[in-house]
Amino acid sequence: MNYEAVIGIETHVELLTHSKMFCGCPTDFGADPNTNVCPVCLGLPGALPVPNEQAIHWTIALGMALECSIAPHSVFHRKNYFYADLPKNYQISQFDLPLCVGGHLDVDGGTGERRVGITRVHLEEDTGKSTHLGGSGRIHDASGALIDFNRSGIPLMEVVTEPDIRTPEEARAYAQELRAIVLALGISDARLEEGSLRFDANVSLRPEGSTTLGTKVEVKNMNSLRSLQRALAFEIDRQNGVLAAGGTIAQETRHWDEAAGRTESGRGKEESSDYRYFPEPDLVPLEVGPELLARLRAGIPELPAVRRERYMAAGLDATAARTLVAGDLSGLFDDAVAAGAAPRAVANWLSGEVTAHLNRTGTDAADLTLDGAGLAELVEMVDSGEVSATAAKDVLAGVLAGEGTPRKVAERRDLLQISDVGALVVAVDEALAAHQDEVARIRGGDARLVGFLVGQVMKATGGRADPQAVDRLIRERTGA
Ligand code: ADP
Ligand code: ZN
Ligand code: MG
Repeated sequence: MNYEAVIGIETHVELLTHSKMFCGCPTDFGADPNTNVCPVCLGLPGALPVPNEQAIHWTIALGMALECSIAPHSVFHRKNYFYADLPKNYQISQFDLPLCVGGHLDVDGGTGERRVGITRVHLEEDTGKSTHLGGSGRIHDASGALIDFNRSGIPLMEVVTEPDIRTPEEARAYAQELRAIVLALGISDARLEEGSLRFDANVSLRPEGSTTLGTKVEVKNMNSLRSLQRALAFEIDRQNGVLAAGGTIAQETRHWDEAAGRTESGRGKEESSDYRYFPEPDLVPLEVGPELLARLRAGIPELPAVRRERYMAAGLDATAARTLVAGDLSGLFDDAVAAGAAPRAVANWLSGEVTAHLNRTGTDAADLTLDGAGLAELVEMVDSGEVSATAAKDVLAGVLAGEGTPRKVAERRDLLQISDVGALVVAVDEALAAHQDEVARIRGGDARLVGFLVGQVMKATGGRADPQAVDRLIRERTGA
């Protein structure tokens, strides 16, 4: 029997608000443990929550970007459970009346566009962070735990899809597109490695042609887009193996082990009734009126899909447009083009060398020491022949290493082309004098040797001569 995979994704997005969801504590990443805390986010007796308006506005903005309906009336609920990093013994979340419902996002995992339904976007608060000591770092073989409540109460948005995704590639395309939207809205730094963007993937199999859903497994702990795709591919294989051997799939949570390249059984899955949800008595329901909606809608910036179309209309191919938008390089691209550089040349640098640099160093576009004006300058220096195409790569490497603007780097690293005719004539005449046999053969009609002489001049000048000018000078002098 052939099985089809069915995938739904739950995404948590930590918002970039300055303060936490229900108190005024700062949200900075990397502060000393348990320094960004107060009675509210530590769950001390008598502390009362006050909602963060910015977080609510941003959640609505994401809902709008995903074409959701925005609920005129929504409610915070308490989700009750005990865990050491949850000091109130409940998390304030949303349940049956979330802020945003019923949207969609179109993605392409390489086999054509698919519309992924968005079930809901809601707002909740993050938990503290547990660090398990000893063993593998997971709770089951830990000797103790350290708890940092700095993360406790940071606004967390959850985006839930319908089970509309069919392949690991589509899941990755969805995650990448959602991340690009979040970045375009500027509501999170969306770093998977730091956990400000977290994906849980639900996956089940069903016989091809069937329309009922199979038993699902929830896979957690993927901290890159690549691991999301790998974890799903592994899990689909695993489930296929179980079913082929006549077994049944247990509904459970499984953890992705990046090093081992496999998922491992975690806890059994709880039901929503286990959480004893009830409306948060310390908060009034959220009423969202038409003026606020209009104001937020007017603030939605250009979204990735529209941006890609604009880039393609400016002459970029689909792959380059996709790479720029997905890699968060559109700001650099727009700035360089605004500074006068040709769109295709800028796109080549960004989707080639710059993307390779980001991948190699594991850094983000935001960390680059290259700006749009610098990129435009580099393109201009290549166009005008000030640096050769090869030397331009070294210039860029210098800029990316923080050595300064392209012109400064080219001067300091001595990469400017010699296009000053006087200097070139000297170099050409030296080469001709050193290779008189070849010159004689050129004069005798063997024009192919011109290339050899150009090579000699390039070598003698350390690659800094303008090869076209050298070629011209040699031909003039040898009559080739
Ligand atoms: P739970 O109550 O277990 O959290 P939900 O119904 O809230 O389950 O769904 C959580 C996620 O799992 C959603 O993204 C949903 O699309 C997806 N999902 C639900 N059922 C299945 C299934 N049988 N196979 C794959 N994904 C599923
Ligand atoms: Zn606090
Ligand atoms: Mg659920």
